[in-house]
Amino acid sequence: MQKLTNKSIQINRDPLTFSERVYLPGLAKGLAITLGHVFKKKATVSYPEVKRPFSPVFRGLHILNRDEEGRERCTACGLCALACPAEAITMEAAERKPGEEHLYREEKYAARYEINMLRCIFCGYCEEACPKDAVYLSESVMPANYTRESFIYKKEDLLIPGNKK
Ligand code: SF4
Ligand code: SF4
Repeated sequence: MQKLTNKSIQINRDPLTFSERVYLPGLAKGLAITLGHVFKKKATVSYPEVKRPFSPVFRGLHILNRDEEGRERCTACGLCALACPAEAITMEAAERKPGEEHLYREEKYAARYEINMLRCIFCGYCEEACPKDAVYLSESVMPANYTRESFIYKKEDLLIPGNKK
C-alpha cells in the first residue's frame, strides 16, 4: 500500500503469509506455466537445419539464367537497370566473337553485371522488365557479411554455372 505525501512515499508491506514464505505455491504456478508451454506447438524452428516455407511472394537473391543449351541469356540490353528504382544494377555490354556461340545466346552479352544488394529493395522490377527471361529472384536469402564490398554481387556470383570457355 502506498501513501503519497508531498515530501515522501511511504510503503507499508503486509507480512508474508505462510504459503508465500515457503514459495511452493509460486513455484508450482511457475512450473505449470512452463509445462503448459512444453506441450504447445513451438513458435521457433532450429534454423538453419529446419527452414520455414517461404511466402509465395517472397523474393530473394537474384539469379542470372541460362538457356536450355547452357548459354547466357542476358544480352546486356539494360532494361533491368532502367527499371530498377534503387539504381542497384550496373553492367557493361560486349560483342560476341566467332567461336563463342556456345557461351552467349545473342550477339551481345554482359561482360560485367553487378547488383548492389545494399541498394536492392527486392521489388522484382528487374525480373519483370527482362525480355529474355535472364534474371529472376530466387528463394535464397542473402547471407550476412562484414564489408560493404561483399554485398556487391558480380556476374560470377549471380550466374548459374554452365558451359566452359
Ligand atoms: S529487385 Fe528491384 S531494387 Fe533489386 S535490383 Fe531488381 S529492380 Fe533493382
Ligand atoms: S538481365 Fe535481361 S533486362 Fe537485364 S540486361 Fe540482361 S537481358 Fe536485359
